[in-house]
Amino acid sequence: MSFSSLGLIDPLLRALDALEYRQPTPVQSQAIPPILAGRDLMAAAQTGTGKTAGFALPLLQRLTMQGPQVAANSVRALVLVPTRELAVQVHDSFIAYSQNLPLRMAIAYGGVSINPQMMKLRRGADVLVATPGRLLDLYRQNAVKFSQLETLVLDEADRMLDLGFARELDAVFAALPRQRQTLLFSATFSDAIREMAGRLLHKPVSVEATPRNTAAKGVKQWMVPVDKKRKTELFLHLLKKKRWKQVLVFVKTKKGADELANALSAQGIPADAIHGDRPQPARLRALERFKSAEVRVLAATDVAARGLDIDDLPQVVNFDLPIVAEDYIHRIGRTGRAGARGDACSLVAADEVQQLAAIEALIKAPLQRIEEPGFLPDHRVPATDAAGRVVRKPKKPKKPKARA
Ligand code: AMP
Repeated sequence: MSFSSLGLIDPLLRALDALEYRQPTPVQSQAIPPILAGRDLMAAAQTGTGKTAGFALPLLQRLTMQGPQVAANSVRALVLVPTRELAVQVHDSFIAYSQNLPLRMAIAYGGVSINPQMMKLRRGADVLVATPGRLLDLYRQNAVKFSQLETLVLDEADRMLDLGFARELDAVFAALPRQRQTLLFSATFSDAIREMAGRLLHKPVSVEATPRNTAAKGVKQWMVPVDKKRKTELFLHLLKKKRWKQVLVFVKTKKGADELANALSAQGIPADAIHGDRPQPARLRALERFKSAEVRVLAATDVAARGLDIDDLPQVVNFDLPIVAEDYIHRIGRTGRAGARGDACSLVAADEVQQLAAIEALIKAPLQRIEEPGFLPDHRVPATDAAGRVVRKPKKPKKPKARA
């Protein structure tokens, strides 16, 4: 299968050639033809499957081949994303794919001044990539109009709901023309997502890039039982022993991410932290330094890490297990991308056994337990069974009382 056999036009094919995309990924070969044909689409696809190009390429083609020139303050395609980082990443992808096309791209997200975004929108944008809150601000200030809107894309729809954007999304949907193409991408399909899809999509084509709720293949997943208070020490030990070069490490809290980065820096290991409390420029800077290998360890919270695009990341570490099992899948989606082998290691303390069991139930497989000599925990992590349940040791039967 080639991109040209999917019916893509020459300017897009040349851009893909320049980016060295040789073959479409499964989600691309399934999604591109129906989107080109104007159909609505619902896709189960997580980060790393190539989903962005899956919707961006056919969308750019439709915008080029048909429709009017974009009017002032108008947008023709709107891509809604949950986080600033994903907005930047998706916008960058659109710019790369449209390098040979006469189309205008714009981006809008919160946490930075609104004025430059308003200025940019004055001339209109063929594609606007936005987070829901900032988009509504722009709309309410008449900086953006939707009368020319042809296509709506919801990227990482599950995450938008998880982050509490349901009301903002409804307000945006109410402002859009009913006659439009709608594409919904989500890593997981909860009842809430299905309900939203039922309301928004018209006879959608369904595409499934990865089996539901299973982790990417080619990723070695393992866990080390350890006492909570020794996690930093164990992480340092593994970093040296395994010679991890570029590690994305997930930490439960913002404070924890900062503490880990500081502890590593104190040992002379270049590390940085990325979380919601850090201003956007600092987060982007940390990400750039990590990508350029200036920083070896990037400690991140789930929200901040969502949408980070780092190619061929060899190592992901769960310093803490996520509270929501689905986040485990998103986290390890950072490694083993585009067919490369990846490694995901979890440091698990006894009080995280329920989270471990929930993850194992979700991925329908146990995580391989590898004990690290010198770090055997005082607080044993109970065993989990094949169904992802915690196995409690049966209590010893009481001795029958001797009869008097
Ligand atoms: P995504 O799932 O959209 O976040 O994409 C994951 C990564 O795969 C990105 O870095 C893309 O640039 C890259 N990618 C997407 N499609 C292809 C392809 N057909 N060939 C090679 N790389 C790709």
